[in-house]
Amino acid sequence: MQQRTGHDVTAAADRPGLMAPDTSGMNFYRADPALTDLLRIHLPDRIFNHIEPHLDRLGGLAGGYLDECARLADRHPPVLHQRDRFGRDVQWIEYHPAYRELEKAAFGEFGIHAMSIRKGVLGWPDKYPVVAKHAFTFLFNQAEFGLGCPINVTDGCANLLANFGSDALKAKYLDGLTETNMAKLTQGGQFMTEKEGGSDVGTLTTSAVQEGNHWRLSGEKWFCSNADAEVVMLLARPRGAEGGTRGVGLFLMPRRLDDGSQNHYRIVRLKDKLGTRSMASGEIKLEGAIAYAVGNLDRGFVQMAEMVNSSRLSNGVKSTALMRRAYHDAMTVARNRSVFGSRIVDLPLGRRQLMKIALATEQALSMSFLTADALDRAEAGSQDAAALLRILTPILKFRATRDARKVCGDALEMRGGIGYIEEFATSRLLRDAHLGSIWEGTGNIVALDALKRAVGRHGADGALAADLHARLDDSAAVPQAWRDRLHGLTDRAIGFAREVASRAEKEAEARRATSLLYHVASAVGLAWEAQRIHERRGDARRLLLSRLVVDHRLSAGDPFRLTENATQAAIADRLLGEPPVGMAEVGELLVAA
Ligand SMILES: Cc1cc2nc3c(=O)[nH]c(=O)nc-3n(C[C@H](O)[C@H](O)[C@H](O)COP(=O)(O)OP(=O)(O)OC[C@H]3O[C@@H](n4cnc5c(N)ncnc54)[C@H](O)[C@@H]3O)c2cc1C
Repeated sequence: MQQRTGHDVTAAADRPGLMAPDTSGMNFYRADPALTDLLRIHLPDRIFNHIEPHLDRLGGLAGGYLDECARLADRHPPVLHQRDRFGRDVQWIEYHPAYRELEKAAFGEFGIHAMSIRKGVLGWPDKYPVVAKHAFTFLFNQAEFGLGCPINVTDGCANLLANFGSDALKAKYLDGLTETNMAKLTQGGQFMTEKEGGSDVGTLTTSAVQEGNHWRLSGEKWFCSNADAEVVMLLARPRGAEGGTRGVGLFLMPRRLDDGSQNHYRIVRLKDKLGTRSMASGEIKLEGAIAYAVGNLDRGFVQMAEMVNSSRLSNGVKSTALMRRAYHDAMTVARNRSVFGSRIVDLPLGRRQLMKIALATEQALSMSFLTADALDRAEAGSQDAAALLRILTPILKFRATRDARKVCGDALEMRGGIGYIEEFATSRLLRDAHLGSIWEGTGNIVALDALKRAVGRHGADGALAADLHARLDDSAAVPQAWRDRLHGLTDRAIGFAREVASRAEKEAEARRATSLLYHVASAVGLAWEAQRIHERRGDARRLLLSRLVVDHRLSAGDPFRLTENATQAAIADRLLGEPPVGMAEVGELLVAA
């Protein structure tokens, strides 16, 4: 089938009668010039050139075959069985063949879980930067969000093991976690949450007792995604250890013991979930399960926090993917559905809604790759980048996951009544989007992490301020007046965050302060990107998005003031159209009232 690269449907075969078409047959890579632009900015040419054909292939699959698999896997959730067909008490989870196809693509063909750990994936002689990996995450999750979790936790387990595991543990488990051969792959899981607390992890009651070279675990884990994972990283308290997070250790728990039998834990039941229905999340009873200590036992929580932070970045990217998919769907509807004699995209209120969807999506895209880039630079040894990463990660996770819920809802509404019907992807996107703000830390927990710990304890706001000012100084083609405005807003957002962080009685402002940091960072990031994209292909339109962030996210609005003025309409024209817009024209729109 011919793959579509834009939102207009012209071929008669793709026109579904009276209803608006959807994104079927769209190549999500080719339809996303902003993704290409950002990858060209953040990646060396040789890596970009190497991965581009693979991204192109994944983009086509995600808009077609994998999307259909995702729809089917969502409709046919996994089933837990207690016995095998010979009547033996062997637990197993039955997955729909469509889910297996999704696994084959993600783990087998593209090796997304292994890209930044193992050399040689997709024929590249080295490990990939995290930016490159998350380009694949971004495209894959536009089709399937449920499997996004197992991909990420398998990656995270391998990373933890590589960083903290003993040589013996690594020799036994690392290879399987990073395999792209499906027959040899062992997927990972991360079981932390217990009934007493998901946020308040220090209250966990799972206990560990040493027995020779291994430990025996007893207790219950309340939310275990990828419930039948072969290799699980979990937290438990060694008997006699102190209370709170200080007393918990990190353990690796294999699903199977050396003789091939199941380890001593049971999946009690699978959760009946709102979203991510394709993927099995279970409740698990640990009944003397054999596990191995990873790293120093008194550093268990600190070590696990590394996995949590890389998952938070991944969650930000995945929520951005949901928004991009929602944007494609909304644009496809708006450009092809006529109401009252006009296409929706030509109606003022339709354009306003599309711009809201587009703005949140582009902000998240910029923030995702700025954060992934900080991680790459931190891993290369930069202390500044490590501090920057410490604050970018929670602000991305907080705001992108929050925006995804709204954006997916708005895109659903753009499709009208059938957007609410499960035959279309929009309802699945909305159901999945609500999970982003819950797992790996709810919105409140992540906002408190950004403010109390990243700013209050680690002073990471200094690294953010320095980075944003430096990006503005490094964007000489951006009109000076705009750069001055952004310098000023940066200082105000940082100042506000510092004040909230320093005064316990201001804790209730943590979400607002985190959002302000996100908006300022994205406004600066968009301007910085605009200069680079303009240099390469003469398009400065991301600077208009920077203005919209300032207008709509960083300016106190008078609710009675009319905002639909000529400038806003002209900006929407440029952003909803295809042709590039040069710096001179953008510069005028940037400062127009
Ligand atoms: C589909 C799904 C899959 C999951 N998979 C996994 C998994 O694989 N592994 C795993 O370990 N966990 C998993 N989780 C669990 C998830 O991480 C937790 O549910 C989450 O961290 C919240 O913990 P909780 O449910 O105990 O809620 P609570 O911690 O009880 O939170 C309840 C409310 O209190 C708020 N709150 C908590 N502390 C504060 C505070 N200090 N200030 C203000 N508000 C606060 C929270 O924001 C939240 O709104 C999964 C959850 C879901 C829904």
